[in-house]
Amino acid sequence: MSEPIVCARQWRRVMRVAGYRCQCTGACGADHTQGGGRCSREHDRPADKGPQRNRLLAAPADPTLSPTLAARAELRAWCGPCHATACRTARRARNEPDPAQGALFSP
Ligand SMILES: [Zn+2]
Ligand SMILES: [Zn+2]
Repeated sequence: MSEPIVCARQWRRVMRVAGYRCQCTGACGADHTQGGGRCSREHDRPADKGPQRNRLLAAPADPTLSPTLAARAELRAWCGPCHATACRTARRARNEPDPAQGALFSP
């Protein structure tokens, strides 16, 4: 996992500012029209599929920051799917290898 471990107090502060709702406005590639341009997943609400509930995480707006830089970055609320996709999209935009997919191309 690449997201920094943030303490509970910090997490709650981020969530309060975000209204316990994912703050993705398209970094993941979705236009989130249903949420008015912002992801509508809210913390502890039932997930889109399956019996799980949404677990929002506090992570930097730039999901590809190294843990050292991320520790000092401003945090935003992300739902799991948006964060994962935004990571992948940002890496691809910079032509960095995607660790999740790199294995497919290694000899
Ligand atoms: Zn989201
Ligand atoms: Zn999103």
